[in-house]
Amino acid sequence: MLRKLIAGNWKMHGEQAWTIKPAGFDGMFKAADRSHLDVLICPPFPYVREMFAASASRNILTGGQDCHALEKGAHTGEVSAEMLADCGASYVIVGHSERRAAGDTDADVHVKAMAAKRAGITPIICVGESLAQRESGDANNIVGAQLAGSVPECLTDYVIAYEPVWAIGTGKVASVDDIKDMHVHIRGIAGDTIRILYGGSVKPGNAAEILSTENVDGALIGGASLNMADFAAIAKAA
Ligand code: PEP
Repeated sequence: MLRKLIAGNWKMHGEQAWTIKPAGFDGMFKAADRSHLDVLICPPFPYVREMFAASASRNILTGGQDCHALEKGAHTGEVSAEMLADCGASYVIVGHSERRAAGDTDADVHVKAMAAKRAGITPIICVGESLAQRESGDANNIVGAQLAGSVPECLTDYVIAYEPVWAIGTGKVASVDDIKDMHVHIRGIAGDTIRILYGGSVKPGNAAEILSTENVDGALIGGASLNMADFAAIAKAA
């Protein structure tokens, strides 16, 4: 069985004072009791370095929420994977549906995943269908095509996050059967060594069922990762 990964995506939430949150998490779920899983927090860029400083000794990993394809250059407002690594990040989310909605294509996600490899950090490559695509029975094809376009063939160290777009931040959760079917589909494409996370309104109340589903190797959590009691409860369910 693959080691589970519980990843929090804070999106554009938080402030510098939030970097004490890992201490709160550690108080609720001690590092010694969670040696069987990886816990990751992805704060907004300006807090990555301080989050790493506050988290590493508690065995909590730090990640970025996106990166640019290039190492450096005239790209105002962008952050490179190397900069994230330099600030202590060991993971970076690429292709989140909110980034895809802002224009990121599969090809963009592909080069960002390559950038993560170049910088020595692990990309979490997000895929997922829209509600219309699910309702038309196209979900498997859509996700298969996203994986084909987004995951570089040479990549061996990466994580896939399956996040049905309609379940993100909406309170709607895919059924366990739908999660199971999609994760089997992704497993068939990605193979046995790649962790496949589920994301989309994971909460303390549904985490145990989702995390015990076959081929679910963890969760990518938005809203519930802002509250350390909820985040710890989800991690305990893993
Ligand atoms: C996400 O943004 O990746 C996510 C899964 O959000 P939420 O848990 O709030 O649905």
